[in-house]
Amino acid sequence: MVLDGDIKAQLAQYMELMEGDVHIQVSAGSDPVSQDMLGLMDEIVAMSSRIRVEKAELSRTPSFSVNRPGEDTGIVFAGIPLGHEFTSFVLALLQVSGRAPKVDPSVIELIQGIKGQYNFETFVSLSCHNCPDVVQALNVMSVLNPGISHTMIDGAAFKDEAEQRGVMAVPSVYLNGEAFGGGRMSIEEILAKIVEAPSADEFNSKEPFDVLVVGGGPAGASSAIYAARKGIRTGIVAERFGGQIMDTVGIENFISTKYTEGPKLAASLEEHVKEYNVDIMKLQRAVRLEKKDYVEVELENGAVLRSKTVILSTGARWRNVGVPGEAEFKNKGVAYCPHCDGPLFAGKDVAVIGGGNSGVEAAIDLAGIVKHVTVLEFNDGLKADSVLQQRLHSLPNVTVITNVATKEFTGTDKLDGITFTDRVSGEERHIELQGVFVQIGLVPNTEWLGDAVERNRMGEIIVDARGATTLPGVFAAGDCTNSPFKQIIISMGSGATASLGAFDYLIRN
Ligand SMILES: Cc1cc2nc3c(=O)[nH]c(=O)nc-3n(C[C@H](O)[C@H](O)[C@H](O)COP(=O)(O)OP(=O)(O)OC[C@H]3O[C@@H](n4cnc5c(N)ncnc54)[C@H](O)[C@@H]3O)c2cc1C
Repeated sequence: MVLDGDIKAQLAQYMELMEGDVHIQVSAGSDPVSQDMLGLMDEIVAMSSRIRVEKAELSRTPSFSVNRPGEDTGIVFAGIPLGHEFTSFVLALLQVSGRAPKVDPSVIELIQGIKGQYNFETFVSLSCHNCPDVVQALNVMSVLNPGISHTMIDGAAFKDEAEQRGVMAVPSVYLNGEAFGGGRMSIEEILAKIVEAPSADEFNSKEPFDVLVVGGGPAGASSAIYAARKGIRTGIVAERFGGQIMDTVGIENFISTKYTEGPKLAASLEEHVKEYNVDIMKLQRAVRLEKKDYVEVELENGAVLRSKTVILSTGARWRNVGVPGEAEFKNKGVAYCPHCDGPLFAGKDVAVIGGGNSGVEAAIDLAGIVKHVTVLEFNDGLKADSVLQQRLHSLPNVTVITNVATKEFTGTDKLDGITFTDRVSGEERHIELQGVFVQIGLVPNTEWLGDAVERNRMGEIIVDARGATTLPGVFAAGDCTNSPFKQIIISMGSGATASLGAFDYLIRN
């Protein structure tokens, strides 16, 4: 049996929602993955009379395609879509059967209007929480447009192909055989890469806002909801709606919710913002802020948005080590997401840079997959909680080296090692590795503000108890501020504070 009892019960419920027949073509050999794939097919055929399975020869074995009767949709799964990809499989069955995908009608129209041939391939790992979004987005595009096809490839089942194509991070997306993109991408982000972006005029012609929020993470979403609920003209401009929670797996401290996952919370945030009359401007990056009659926010596309007040909630991003080779070998051995990319380093030697909670958690996770983990810490001791340190020290395949100043990531076409200086002896050392996971904290996304508002030494925006910055009419919230603690619930609270602060400012001025 490939599916366990619980999953089978869930699948049976979803299959009741199928609206039409689905034909699955399976390309299987005598290898164990093929046999499991055939086993999975037997199980699902027994569960729904709407599904027919037949053997075929597809370009990869083992793989299967999900089609409408007599019509190739272009959706192929190479490898078995269990783990995080199970939802992608279920959604493909439902959408191919005729159930409408849950995307904005404007997005559907955009996809249906795409002309030309787009053959996408996505390398995934089944433990990658960023991969399903990309797989599901490309599957939706394949269902909606006959010129678009998409194959999900499980890197573990197609190890040789992944190695030959130099895939060292997932998701890795190829379009018509050429590298297209990596990491989590929303359907809008994918579309932005293949269709023409809206012109700057579309933004320039917008009436001034009462409150313009810059940043669409927990702080920005909360600011926008609080502002819109006052009935004032509210806009939100965000490069990547959801923010850091899009990279977060389990969240257990979002009070009143015992457990949730980042992307699920991000989808709820967006749904909640859409309940109100908020002008949502996604995939737009702010590059300059200046106060004239209105506060002006210039976007990367050259457009200028005007608003009586602005709330800055641009959050933070992973900190880079900033040494030679880091950028060059990014996704070629240098990685930032252990959950996503860990399985690609199975049986290999890796290092984790950073001995705080996230570094030590990453090392513990990786130790279960890879051959050996070296934890490299700049200070003379690890900073992680003692329970994590105890767990780390109990693992047989982990070495901790302290007082390490990383000097260089080395390699030719991919990473082959790391050079560092021992800060006590001054000695330079090199270790051979296939992967390095960088876990050294975050930096605020505030460089674009220059001197427009006062920032501290770390670049964090200085705010008062009402969320006001040093520039009248400009407020800030969340991880981009000097708030000493960076958490979802704290960001949301400060978003509410900044919004109420902005409303108060509007009334008084
Ligand atoms: C791996 C990981 C795990 C975590 N786990 C937890 C947890 O379990 N519990 C918890 O409470 N917290 C957790 N956190 C912290 C939490 O995610 C953050 O505190 C929270 O997301 C901060 O929200 P924010 O809205 O301030 O910023 P962000 O989430 O960083 O959002 C910033 C927003 O601004 C946008 N933006 C940035 N620059 C620009 C620009 N120039 N123009 C336009 N838009 C821009 C971004 O695209 C994004 O939409 C975790 C963080 C990480 C990285």
